[in-house]
Amino acid sequence: MSRSRGNPFEGRARHIRALPSRVVTFLVGVEVLAVAAVLVAVATSPPTVLANTLASGIGLLVAAVLHTEASLGVERTRHRMEATPHADLSSVWTFAGALILPPLEAVALVLLIYLHLYLRAWRPLAVPPHRVIFSTATVVLAALAAGAIVGPTGPAPTAGGLALALLALAVYGLLNLVLVVVAIRLSSPGTTLAGAVGHRDELLLELATLAMGAVMAGVVAALGPFHVVLALPPLVVLHRTVLVRQLAAAATTDAKTGLLTAAEWRMQASLALRRARHEDRAAAVVLLDLDHFKVVNDRHGHLAGDQVLAAVGEALRGEVREVDVVGRFGGEEFVVLLADIAGDDPDEGALHVADRIRRRIAALRPEIDDGTARVTISAGVATLPRDGADLERLLEVADAALYAAKDSGRNAVRARPDEPPPAPGLPLVDLDPGMLRAREA
Ligand code: GH3
Ligand code: MG
Ligand code: MG
Repeated sequence: MSRSRGNPFEGRARHIRALPSRVVTFLVGVEVLAVAAVLVAVATSPPTVLANTLASGIGLLVAAVLHTEASLGVERTRHRMEATPHADLSSVWTFAGALILPPLEAVALVLLIYLHLYLRAWRPLAVPPHRVIFSTATVVLAALAAGAIVGPTGPAPTAGGLALALLALAVYGLLNLVLVVVAIRLSSPGTTLAGAVGHRDELLLELATLAMGAVMAGVVAALGPFHVVLALPPLVVLHRTVLVRQLAAAATTDAKTGLLTAAEWRMQASLALRRARHEDRAAAVVLLDLDHFKVVNDRHGHLAGDQVLAAVGEALRGEVREVDVVGRFGGEEFVVLLADIAGDDPDEGALHVADRIRRRIAALRPEIDDGTARVTISAGVATLPRDGADLERLLEVADAALYAAKDSGRNAVRARPDEPPPAPGLPLVDLDPGMLRAREA
């Protein structure tokens, strides 16, 4: 249900010198292969430049430049949010070129488009040159492969021509994807395959972009090289829609921990709770608060505190199942909805899970800049149906239980305390100020 969103490019070195040698070997290998493919193309393709293909190439280049210029704002926003120029839409133009231009012109088009992208879009964002060179090499290889499939005259206007164009599209897309995925997996071995492949929406966008590229090749062939500018308005609009998913993710994901924000957690937890009630299953709310976290900040600084929060969030997510809903509730407070508790005694089961989390956090040695930190957590547990039927009530009970755990000396887990929990709005002065803030938020 809730999935912390790892950025596959996180941790990738900003400078090529900082990359492990196996990564450098791979990057340079792909680049050498691209140069070799270009040399083969030089040796095997006729040296003359035909006036009509030159005009087509210039038309595609002009359109690509205008497209990049019109999309600079969108690219900057995407980059700020995801720290990587992932699927940029330039393959509309590079793939169209691959289909209808002779190999060397197609390569020249790729190089010029990427040079322009680098100078205008990526360099101002400090994208490291080694990444841009690698991307360019993968696109050069993909363009040469696609061009070799459709042949020097481009896809014919027949069913066979369409089949070849589709094959070229698949090869172009896959070659790019595979090379990038291998590079990511080599440079950050912890990345899952799904994480490296990227979000489904990104893949669909890339597919749509390539299909547009094929359409654009047809426009150039049928109408002339400069009619492609007609495609710019829809492309710029399409480009903007890419932001929607990123904005939605940013609104629901806590930036420091990758967990759900408090508001999103409430929404998902309410849903999961309703489902549990309908199906007569037990569920539980576990509210967790780091012990003496102020001391961690005071001793190591706030940045180290943030690193600890991120490590705790990751451990928390790893300790429960995919269906459980994990959120950051406030400053150093976390909350988990255990969506389904099996076993004869669900109350005991929930306590058991909470205690497993407590032990995991106590054993954690989060890396901070000046070594490792240690931290413990206290937790309060409330179960459906015993402690209440709705989320607010369960949160109240878990909150009171959490304070019982703190009172007992911390690094502890408690269920419903002996005394009845405070009525909402009454003895709030006894509550943790951080919790109050989160409640009000
Ligand atoms: P207790 O065991 O009673 O919970 O003690 P505590 O120090 O954890 O509790 P208190 O509520 O007094 O302090 C919470 C601390 O958490 C203070 C605040 O600076 C810190 N904190 C809250 N949010 C963040 C954050 O995002 N980053 C960092 N580094 N610290 C945070
Ligand atoms: Mg605390
Ligand atoms: Mg607190």
